[in-house]
Amino acid sequence: MARTEFNIELCKGCGLCVSVCPQKIIALRKDILNSKGFHPSGVEDMDRCTGCTICATICPDCVITVYR
Ligand code: SF4
Ligand code: SF4
Repeated sequence: MARTEFNIELCKGCGLCVSVCPQKIIALRKDILNSKGFHPSGVEDMDRCTGCTICATICPDCVITVYR
């Protein structure tokens, strides 16, 4: 089983990770603003994460860490 962690303070809400996740389980969290004023992304259904690491690879700001 895989798990991802998002360092939300580093996220600029660009949405790249949202667009590449094969499982379509990443979304921008409209309920949260980080200290830079962005809506950070997060995983909505962690049970469906396969640990493929595509999200972590594409993120330009190294926000995402994948554990598996
Ligand atoms: S590791 Fe893969 S399946 Fe899991 S959230 Fe990232 S892109 Fe999606
Ligand atoms: S790719 Fe990185 S900076 Fe862009 S929304 Fe995803 S986690 Fe945030």
